[in-house]
Amino acid sequence: MTRMIAVATLAGLAAVCVASTSLAQDMTPPRILFLSKSEGFEHSPVAVKDGKPCLAETVLGQLAQENGSPFKSTKDASLINADNLKNYDLVCFYTQGDLTKPSKDGGAPMGEKGQADLVEWIKNGGRFMGFHSASDTFHTPADGEVTPYLKMVGAEFTGHGGQFKGTLKIVDPMHPAMENVPKDWSFPEEWYLFNHFNTATMHVLALLDPGEDGAKQEKYRIAPYPSIWCSALGKGKVYFSSLGHREDVWESPTFQKSIVDAGMWLMAPGTEGTEPNYDKVVPKEAPKK
Ligand SMILES: [Zn+2]
Repeated sequence: MTRMIAVATLAGLAAVCVASTSLAQDMTPPRILFLSKSEGFEHSPVAVKDGKPCLAETVLGQLAQENGSPFKSTKDASLINADNLKNYDLVCFYTQGDLTKPSKDGGAPMGEKGQADLVEWIKNGGRFMGFHSASDTFHTPADGEVTPYLKMVGAEFTGHGGQFKGTLKIVDPMHPAMENVPKDWSFPEEWYLFNHFNTATMHVLALLDPGEDGAKQEKYRIAPYPSIWCSALGKGKVYFSSLGHREDVWESPTFQKSIVDAGMWLMAPGTEGTEPNYDKVVPKEAPKK
């Protein structure tokens, strides 16, 4: 009896393995474009030193290669245009500032239509992945109207304090993009603060709990708030992770696995896993300290 159960279990496992292998094989590796132009502050993971590829390019390029994905890394924001976007399935941004302006990193400016072209491309089925200062890009202008780009990303960077060890509380651990990260994922990082959350579309994946370490700084004496999220936009999908300031975060196998998982989820057909949940999972009251 025991033996029969063991055999049945093994057969079941084999069936699951075959199914997941063929799923991965069926998926054509996405053609990836990675933009890392910084108009103002340039983060060390996107800084080119001694002509060598930056750390984020090295990590993303390696992950793409392991997945069989064609991968182009650039600081040339003019490549974000309707014609060129037809050549890609997934666009990743670790950018900063107004990308239509010249920058010290030598990255050519985006054309005036670039922002609208990117959003339109996503609506028509494109996939977007943003890291860290991708939320510090195309800020809300003085007229107060949030830019189409930031509405797409899902929130706007407002600032940060000193680095500390925070805990990411995974609020949707069953989500394919989160299945290989710890449910309480703690590490030191520069934790971004936000406003203009696009609460109508956002599917929150992880909240930052600043905890006791964070509460040493006034600006982090706040309730847990979204730090990783995703959304649907038309036929396309968006994933944003506020992580990635520190080089050791990029070097972390857990972070790297989360990028692969997010990429696989983004490229899967349909928009499952994007149901808006902001009002359900984000605490309304600030914790009393
Ligand atoms: Zn940073």
